[in-house]
Amino acid sequence: MQKIVCLYDMSDENVRTMHELSIAEHIVEIAVTHLQRDGASRVREIELEIGTLSGIEIDALTFALDVVTKDTALRDATVHIQRVEGRSRCNSCGEEFAMEDFFSPCPSCGTFDSTVLQGEEMRVKSLLVHE
Ligand SMILES: [Zn+2]
Repeated sequence: MQKIVCLYDMSDENVRTMHELSIAEHIVEIAVTHLQRDGASRVREIELEIGTLSGIEIDALTFALDVVTKDTALRDATVHIQRVEGRSRCNSCGEEFAMEDFFSPCPSCGTFDSTVLQGEEMRVKSLLVHE
């Protein structure tokens, strides 16, 4: 058994418009590519990082993963999903605040103009595999 730590960012592939099922398929693709490269046969655990602002429904993603991993090297893998809370910085007063959705105003000055600091993550953080 071997622990591989890798960090793939899926957000550069236009995932924002993707359905949870496509995202699940993409996760399997990433994992299988990594397995083949390392000559491993099975994924034991997979760790995902999903931001609360990513638009991904965790229940839907979990269900989709169940479906698409059935006949793959990921079929018995335990899926760990780590949530990343949304945080933003106000472009007007510089206040940093927790952001539940993209329509949250700055709690300090009320402006809607802010820069997202975290919460948009969609990543395969690590894989634990069998040789
Ligand atoms: Zn502000």
